[in-house]
Amino acid sequence: MKYIFGNWKENHTMNDVLSYIKEFKKQKLPLDVCYGLAVPYLYLQKMNQKLSKKCKIGVQNVSFSEKGEFTGEISAKMLTDFSCDFSLVGHSERRQKFKETNEEINKKIEMCFNNGIMPILCVGETKEEKEEGKTKKVLKTQLTKCLKDINLSKQFMVAYEPVWAIGTGLTPTPKEIEDNIAYIKKVLEENIKKVGVCVLYGGSVNPQNAKELLNGKSVDGALVGGASLNAKKFIDIGKNLANVRR
Ligand code: PEP
Repeated sequence: MKYIFGNWKENHTMNDVLSYIKEFKKQKLPLDVCYGLAVPYLYLQKMNQKLSKKCKIGVQNVSFSEKGEFTGEISAKMLTDFSCDFSLVGHSERRQKFKETNEEINKKIEMCFNNGIMPILCVGETKEEKEEGKTKKVLKTQLTKCLKDINLSKQFMVAYEPVWAIGTGLTPTPKEIEDNIAYIKKVLEENIKKVGVCVLYGGSVNPQNAKELLNGKSVDGALVGGASLNAKKFIDIGKNLANVRR
């Protein structure tokens, strides 16, 4: 099974959402692919009503607090009213533009677990960190801090998203992706004592490059930004992977 998850970010209006649903339903889905879409909160209910049989529906962020004086935030408990399957946590845009820390991300993961929402923890190095040869150090720090002292008996996923590859058209080589994802799994096993976690690759994945980039034996799928905004393109990413064509 491969996992192809999309992240719409701050895109689409209700009209776009309705067209997306129509287009998604027209497509024949490959058997061995699990699709998921992280949508803006406002579209969670509509997407769930219309697409939950074909696709996991989740959100892009969640509050680190349970409730209280946090104007503008949405708690994990509120999300359970709309049967939210998963939430991204620690996306690099949140870390960079909203100054989210590993400690806050740690609390967000805990909130997800407490409310039956699967967290997808995003980790990845910046261009400077890559150039300084610090990729593995950064990945280990992010993983250990974000997952510190959390009971990990419930399912979660990790997305390896090099910051310099997001929305740029640049990608690591397939070997770099495989090596870094294998390393993430090693850290999860050795430092966090957790085996069998699915790890996705994210950063400029499209239907053309998916098969090559996601071919590594440790790579369980993709987190897709730009190319998830179009239903056909998004589904084609899954269709184009080896061994999954119907
Ligand atoms: C992302 O934002 O998680 C992402 C991978 O974006 P893109 O596919 O556009 O690079």
